[in-house]
Amino acid sequence: MKNLTLKNIAKVCGGVYVGSPEKKEQEVQGIVTDSRKVEEGFLFVPIKGARVDAHDFIDGVMEKGALCTLTERGLGEKSFPYIKVNSSLQAVKDIAEFYLKQLSIPVVGITGSVGKTSTKEMIAAVLEEKYNVLKTKGNFNNELGVPLTVFGLRPDHEIAVLEMGISDFGEMHRLAKIARPDTCLITNIGLCHLELLKSRDGILKAKTEIFDFLESDGHVILNGDDDKLITVRDVKGIKPLFFGIDNHQGVWADEIESKGLKGISCRIHAGEENFKVLIPIPGRHMVYNALAGTAVGLTYGMNMEEIKKGIESLQSLSGRFHIIETGNRTIVDDCYNANPVSMKASLDVLQDALGRRVAILGDMGELGKEEVEMHREVGVYAAARDIDKIICVGELAGDMAEAARLAAPTKDIVYFAEKESLLEALPEMIRDGDTILVKASHFMEFEKVVETLKNFP
Ligand code: ATP
Ligand code: MG
Repeated sequence: MKNLTLKNIAKVCGGVYVGSPEKKEQEVQGIVTDSRKVEEGFLFVPIKGARVDAHDFIDGVMEKGALCTLTERGLGEKSFPYIKVNSSLQAVKDIAEFYLKQLSIPVVGITGSVGKTSTKEMIAAVLEEKYNVLKTKGNFNNELGVPLTVFGLRPDHEIAVLEMGISDFGEMHRLAKIARPDTCLITNIGLCHLELLKSRDGILKAKTEIFDFLESDGHVILNGDDDKLITVRDVKGIKPLFFGIDNHQGVWADEIESKGLKGISCRIHAGEENFKVLIPIPGRHMVYNALAGTAVGLTYGMNMEEIKKGIESLQSLSGRFHIIETGNRTIVDDCYNANPVSMKASLDVLQDALGRRVAILGDMGELGKEEVEMHREVGVYAAARDIDKIICVGELAGDMAEAARLAAPTKDIVYFAEKESLLEALPEMIRDGDTILVKASHFMEFEKVVETLKNFP
């Protein structure tokens, strides 16, 4: 890895190198925190977790051929060479900041309350039509995930697309210090992480820390349909490029038409130009993601034809409106996460499915003190959709079921306090030809519901 000699690593993280002078001049071949991923020439970073202290693996990784290890405690000769640091986590951030800075590669940083991963995938799909892109794997978006993503950069990468997620003030500032995005994109200001950030204005303030290290030749791309983001008119002299469906200032869409589970089509406009595109994942929110992809593509000199091709090449990720055809039924695996906005969006799409429509909806987490009200709101929304059966699961979902029943007393609405009882009852409740939406917050582990739906005849 360019300029990542043990000497430089020790210097940037304020660590003390212990080992032979020759090795000090060698560059590491990779940096990982997972001992199983260590290869010849790598730097191992042991992180102390709640259950496991990775310092216990140091002897093993050195035997496997690691060039060096960081450590928060003194080590024996067997583990030479090592770099002693006060905090492995802080060291990882310092090393990533140094590495990215001297690679001088353009970085697109993506944040927002909802849709970061989906937008990141779309932006990467667009940019890949023209560039060799490094993107965040999965959801590695926090103070450990961002550095580990940065360590994936190699000289042939031409641009990095990084997801940046937070739950408290100050975190985004630290992430921005590492990533130094040239383009900052914010998807929306919703209602996640209210526990620490208190209000949508708090969320706006915390997310806009992403601008803290933006240079004057950088770019700001914002959802212009978001009432909070539209108030951002100037960032260090940079005028934001807005995208939206209602707001027609920068990049915008019309002629929006659902194609059922095949996706959603629209016409995208930017200046005098426009193109029609089929976004291969359903949901009106995907139009926003395609607009974000278009805005970033234009920022990096792509033409409309390349952008359209990129959008049409998008692949779905498991857990995020991923469609599984079992032969007997269609499962919409949307169990990666949930909040009121994304619940409603997914329920809207389910209405367009063929056959009997079933929604299995679980608890939504991290909603703060309005959680009961928000579960009730989703219940009422679901009840008003053209959906044949609603199954609510979990402690909080009790309020969802109750509100749904009050709103639509004749509708087929079932409630399970425990996921285990649902799993047992599931084969009895599902018929051939059903389309079943499975959605809840991550902690509900609804992957098990998807697995069960896949596995009975
Ligand atoms: P996390 O905070 O867990 O990283 P995230 O911000 O990365 O979440 P995604 O995982 O991309 O969000 O999307 C979560 C859900 O939100 C998706 O399953 C989808 O239903 C919905 N969604 C995706 N894109 C958008 C969008 N632009 N606006 C609103 N909802 C969206
Ligand atoms: Mg994410």
